[in-house]
Amino acid sequence: MPLIPPDWTPRAALEPLHLPWLAEAGLELAVLRLDALDPLVSGNKWFKLAPHLEQAGRNGVDGVISLGGAHSNHLHALAAAGARFGFPCVGLLRGEPQDTPTVRDLQRFGMTLHWLGYGGYRARHQPGFWEPWRQRYPHLQAVPEGGGGLPGALGCVALVGMVREQLADLGWDDYHSLWTAVGTGTTLAGLVLGENGRHPVFGALAVPPDHGVAEQVSALLVEAGRFDADYHLLDASRGGFARLDGELARFLLDSERDGGLMLEPLYTAKALLAIRQEARAGRLPAGSRLVLLHTGGLQGRRALQAELAQLAGYTGPAVEAQG
Ligand SMILES: *Cc1c(COP(=O)(O)O)cnc(C)c1O
Repeated sequence: MPLIPPDWTPRAALEPLHLPWLAEAGLELAVLRLDALDPLVSGNKWFKLAPHLEQAGRNGVDGVISLGGAHSNHLHALAAAGARFGFPCVGLLRGEPQDTPTVRDLQRFGMTLHWLGYGGYRARHQPGFWEPWRQRYPHLQAVPEGGGGLPGALGCVALVGMVREQLADLGWDDYHSLWTAVGTGTTLAGLVLGENGRHPVFGALAVPPDHGVAEQVSALLVEAGRFDADYHLLDASRGGFARLDGELARFLLDSERDGGLMLEPLYTAKALLAIRQEARAGRLPAGSRLVLLHTGGLQGRRALQAELAQLAGYTGPAVEAQG
């Protein structure tokens, strides 16, 4: 029994984004709105999950067990899919029990939660980790953290086709480059495979450049049989994952006000800011048409709302997101 009805193939809209600095630089930008895919299920995490859910269906299991933190976009997308399509989900959470907007949604979606502590969560890569969970939930399939691996990347290949199909609606015959925020690089690898050399893919790193993302991306591409990929990684992390500062907060709030597009500070605002930095550095010629993936994550923004407003009036060094 498939967990997801085979005829459910949501399509994200491709929409122009107008901002004063884009106009000044002579750039056109279109955003693929994974954040607005469906009332329940959204973001790149859905596309990374979908192949795992298909596999689970083929394996004849009833549902899925996976792991993440108390603000996890991945667990949120999984629990939302479980609620929407009526399959059971179990979430293994990092740390001690916390009450966050994300956790409340997971509970409301009917996900069964187990808090592993920090040490217990760190053990997730050890050989025997899954054994007790397999015994406890023999009818559920384990999905890796964040829906990674080659299946996750292959789930993102179709995003390139979604862009291509909608270019004519914007009056575009083509575009120059495709942009996305990057955490593990799984989504980026899928885009590179989908582009198959047609356009360069730019990844705005939400994690510091020494986190091994380049190695992970090339491993995925090699696993998929591609060696000559056209992609570029830029450091957009502002010093670390979940590191926020006043410039970023003001940029996010200004973009929302001027462009009417909601962003969150950990990935999507950093990616858009990376585009502005490249434009200001003169590396994006006037007349360029860019496509940016809105990878979602807005559910996680709720816990950061007050901090964003406070940071917008702040001019000191970057701070760690509190959430
Ligand atoms: C997870 C996530 C990313 C990064 O995706 P990867 O495939 O890990 O690179 C980007 N944006 C948002 C909103 C995410 O939740």
